[in-house]
Amino acid sequence: MADQDRITRLFFELFEGLPRQGPGETFSTLRALALVPNVTSSTRILDLGCGTGAQTRALAKHSPATIVAIDNHPPFVDELNRLLKAIGSANRAVAQVGNMDDLNFPSGTFDLIWCEGAIYVIGFDAGLKAWRPLLKPGGHLVVSEACWTKPDPPEECRAFWEQEYPGIKNVEALLAASDGAGYDTIGHFTLPSDAWWNEYYRPLSQNLTEFRWRHREDGDALELADNVQREIDMWKKHGEYYSYEFVVMRVR
Ligand code: SAH
Repeated sequence: MADQDRITRLFFELFEGLPRQGPGETFSTLRALALVPNVTSSTRILDLGCGTGAQTRALAKHSPATIVAIDNHPPFVDELNRLLKAIGSANRAVAQVGNMDDLNFPSGTFDLIWCEGAIYVIGFDAGLKAWRPLLKPGGHLVVSEACWTKPDPPEECRAFWEQEYPGIKNVEALLAASDGAGYDTIGHFTLPSDAWWNEYYRPLSQNLTEFRWRHREDGDALELADNVQREIDMWKKHGEYYSYEFVVMRVR
């Protein structure tokens, strides 16, 4: 069996230097932000699973709020703090190492919790439940979450998601789960197809080419590259059946 630490290192190497760590785009981040009322300089935002923080920086640039961004991968946190400094936002936005499944903030700390492309780590239902107490009364939660966008996906596509993320729902089920967890939906929209390619799969494809060449004699690395390529190919073939849904919620 391959050494798990080595595989993890290879995984992070393959994803190094990308503009973001999942599908997304600034336009959609700002579209979701515009649905949240009364974001002022006293608004406190918690950004969970921030990665290198493409969305954190957009939120910092386009709102006067104070932001704490959390990720459990220290190199992402260091990089985000460096980038926040570079754009002059380090005085009101900071990244910290932490676990979204074990947060130690007092209840009612935040006006807005943001989680782009990362709630799948603990699951949509579990995230909504666990983070609710951290919000102030009437506070907002914005997530983007993988979802089916069309019924009856082809079998190979359904089987792929069954293996990768069996919890994937359709939009209707996401909204029902949000309601059941004690949130009102303020608005929702689907991440456009371009947001999967331009800042995520396109640079990742470039990384894959270089990664394969560097590790051309390493079977484990090539297997990892094959798996990531399979994900990209699945999207190219069947991407019309799934995307990420942005859901803007207010706690009841
Ligand atoms: N929001 C970013 C990153 C999404 S990828 C973007 O859209 O580009 C998911 C992120 O969650 C990764 O950066 C990963 O390091 C982080 N992550 C994984 N498990 C985590 C956990 N338990 N707690 C906090 N962050 C976690």
